[in-house]
Amino acid sequence: MLAVLVCSACRLSAPADSPGWRCACGAPYDLRIEAAFPREAILRRPASFWRYQEALPLPPACEPVSLGETLTPLVPWPDAPGCHLKLEFLFPTGSFKDRGAAVLLTHLRARGVRQVVEDSSGNAGAAVAAYAAHAGIGCRIFVPAATSSGKLAQIAAYGATVVPVEGTREAVTVSARAEAEQSYYASHVFSPFFFHGTKTFAFEVWEQLGFRAPDCLILPVGHGTLFLGAYLGFRDLLAAGEIRALPRLIGVQAAACAPLAAAWRGAPTAAPEDTLAEGIRIAAPDRAAAILQACRESDGEILTVSEPEIVSTFFRLARAGFYVEPTAAAAPAAALKLSAAGRLPAGETTIVPLTGTGLKAGSTIAALLKTRPA
Ligand SMILES: [Zn+2]
Repeated sequence: MLAVLVCSACRLSAPADSPGWRCACGAPYDLRIEAAFPREAILRRPASFWRYQEALPLPPACEPVSLGETLTPLVPWPDAPGCHLKLEFLFPTGSFKDRGAAVLLTHLRARGVRQVVEDSSGNAGAAVAAYAAHAGIGCRIFVPAATSSGKLAQIAAYGATVVPVEGTREAVTVSARAEAEQSYYASHVFSPFFFHGTKTFAFEVWEQLGFRAPDCLILPVGHGTLFLGAYLGFRDLLAAGEIRALPRLIGVQAAACAPLAAAWRGAPTAAPEDTLAEGIRIAAPDRAAAILQACRESDGEILTVSEPEIVSTFFRLARAGFYVEPTAAAAPAAALKLSAAGRLPAGETTIVPLTGTGLKAGSTIAALLKTRPA
């Protein structure tokens, strides 16, 4: 495994253990890696994403920052024939973001980093705070001042310092990046190590399907943490000769905030409105160009779902025993639509993640229950 940082803008390269969190030109790094998948060795190791160690950008023999993750279950979903749900909400902090945080914090601890900053009031903030705590690394999380206290409780409980910032979501990012000049920006959007953690989603799917790729993945997309991770993972498998083609990558946005769907159609971006799918309510994704490129390359697309579709799918999942946050209902809602339209051909395998637990969204879900007709 050989890893090297490559600037996403000027293409200048740097060693993977470079101290900076971005290129001198200011743009975020990508990361190039020659991944290998020794199946017999993989199968002998404990059942977690750490078993794909030859595909992770970490120094050999480096001790993982691990909270005891396991391979997340893949279960059939009869509501959409051919679809399987991957239960990502079963991670230690309640979302798939643990994949990225675990790999990033492992990299940072191995490098001797003592302090990080991140800006996220949601699942990424919780994941970075938890893995920083476990690694013994100081952590400050910048959040919009208007964020409800309930959402911040998990981050604060892990011992991270919560820094409220007045103004727009963009103002929060600007403040975090300014502080990161004296610290390290452990960003789920900026750091390529985060995406090279979330890519393990693809490796697990490949192994769980008997070492083959599915035909299609339907994934929620805001900043693209999971979407680009899945793309990187299947690209690694393709480059290593483990699969013959990329699966179709279908990104799903809430119609109320769908800049990527608009760009995909070549339409102007509408002003973002409020949506229940707060985890993908991103008006200006930093890695939009990479997301659209992954769609084109995989013969995929970007779709939208309405608020009523998110709500009805949320309850459909809950009535089947899956208690997820409303954001996690967006991709299954799109799967139901595609299935009803005959766009998931018989005999194909489609993967749909359930990205985050409903236990974090109790007040939102309680409000939904009040408005739902009997
Ligand atoms: Zn550069």
